[in-house]
Amino acid sequence: MQMLAAAKLRQAWGDKPCDHPHIEQEYHFGSNTGEYVCTQRGKAKEGSDWNKRTSDP
Ligand SMILES: [Zn+2]
Repeated sequence: MQMLAAAKLRQAWGDKPCDHPHIEQEYHFGSNTGEYVCTQRGKAKEGSDWNKRTSDP
């Protein structure tokens, strides 16, 4: 997912909790940012399985 798309998701989602059902690699145009982003909420963190390891909304 593109960084810009993730930012839009974050704005649309607001402060609601999210259980991060799916994450995928984040890109800034053609470059991999090294982070994985929640496709529901747009939250990005390092690690390909951070959504399984955290209760962080
Ligand atoms: Zn999420």
